[in-house]
Amino acid sequence: MNGHSDVEGIGLGLVAPPSSTGIKVIVVGSGFAGLACAIECKRKGHDVLVLEKFSELKVLGDVISLGPNAGRFIERWGLHDKLWPICAHAPFLNLHNHLGEIIQVQPLPAHEYGSQSYNGHRGEMHRILFQHAESIGVDIRLGQNITEYWETDQDGLAGVITNGECICGDVVIGADGVRSKARELILGFNDKHRSSGYAIYRAWFKAQENGVDKDPLIEFLTTGNDVLYGWIGKDIHLLASSFQNSTAISWLMTHKDDADINESWSFPGKMEDVLALVEGWDPRCAALLSKAPWCIDWKLVYRDPLPTWISEGARMAVMGDAAHPFLPMQGASQAIEDGVVLAVTLQLAGKAKVPLALRAWETIRYQRVRKAQIMGETTRDKWHRANPGDRGECIDIPRPEWLLSFDAEAHAYQVYNNVEKQIKEHGYKHPTCP
Ligand SMILES: Cc1cc2nc3c(=O)[nH]c(=O)nc-3n(C[C@H](O)[C@H](O)[C@H](O)COP(=O)(O)OP(=O)(O)OC[C@H]3O[C@@H](n4cnc5c(N)ncnc54)[C@H](O)[C@@H]3O)c2cc1C
Repeated sequence: MNGHSDVEGIGLGLVAPPSSTGIKVIVVGSGFAGLACAIECKRKGHDVLVLEKFSELKVLGDVISLGPNAGRFIERWGLHDKLWPICAHAPFLNLHNHLGEIIQVQPLPAHEYGSQSYNGHRGEMHRILFQHAESIGVDIRLGQNITEYWETDQDGLAGVITNGECICGDVVIGADGVRSKARELILGFNDKHRSSGYAIYRAWFKAQENGVDKDPLIEFLTTGNDVLYGWIGKDIHLLASSFQNSTAISWLMTHKDDADINESWSFPGKMEDVLALVEGWDPRCAALLSKAPWCIDWKLVYRDPLPTWISEGARMAVMGDAAHPFLPMQGASQAIEDGVVLAVTLQLAGKAKVPLALRAWETIRYQRVRKAQIMGETTRDKWHRANPGDRGECIDIPRPEWLLSFDAEAHAYQVYNNVEKQIKEHGYKHPTCP
């Protein structure tokens, strides 16, 4: 398919495209970015292959958040009924200062800006998306070790070498996460990370098995209705939530940490260090933290924004965390938006204009992602600098309309023609160029 009139009526991908576009998309990595890209490519008639490093699907991680801007795709894919029961349904964020005085009660509407938010266990939610991709016929190959990426000018091909086998297509997407190899192999950028000065202790555990319901200080977390509590102190904030009718608990504590090591979803935290941070705080904090049988010490590593996400020949790109790592909150949502938008630009450009599709994709996505990244840092700093006397909306978690009401798929359909025209008339400029 080539040309825009062909896609009229397909609109938000709610109707299957009439035929295959003939575009072969290779996606490296089956995290939220890779899966969203694969699902949407399949829906829009592209031929998609996913290559994943892990050899077996495991339920890993703890809590992850999808805002309504990503929730609308969960609903479009028909996955609401599977995700909703495993997600948290706290109606308010009850925010306290470190002494335990309530400083704000922020309503968290279940349905906002036309869609739900989905906050749940990363591994459980990931498994549902993974199985959905397989069920609609996405070819996902596990145990793949990609050692090379390549593209050619002459025949307009791109490909990878995986486990010694050469696989080629029209476009290759590196969606291989925060410690991306694709970033270097596709773009030539070394991973120049540095400590952000912060880390997060994080835990997820069963409430009853770990005695939360028997401790009078924190039994309020296990009444059968999910709740979300927060405590903020100088340079530290703690968020705790119950899930699945308050049978599971998760907490995240962001704190100062200058250790210069990389991120790992398996690096263990020491409980004595965790508890030392809340000495003199509301005693509910230590009671809650100490119930976790183990926790992860996730270093928040900083990387300067990449000047571009696409290769010179514009047949290869990085997306999701590989392109733009996030502080907690919007990482998975933006990764999903990336994948959705790429499927649209490929559909509208057509097989003969794949490089144009990638350039349009980067143009559409870059500044929005940057704005969302900056918002995460501003919220953290606002909480860490709050005074114990601060009250009210000034300490709310921001829920801005520009971020959450956004429909990345509809927007891409809307702006594509103009973006393509600009690129054709003025040549391609990376979004960071003045
Ligand atoms: C095991 C794990 C646990 C996580 N737990 C949490 C959590 O609890 N909370 C949270 O907020 N975020 C968590 N994240 C990160 C979160 O999923 C991402 O920040 C966000 O969803 C963006 O997704 P992504 O697809 O860009 O990256 P990721 O979700 O990191 O996915 C990247 C995928 O690429 C695969 N991969 C990496 N290298 C290669 C390679 N060379 N070849 C092929 N495949 C490769 C990885 O195995 C992974 O499946 C976790 C990520 C992982 C991998």
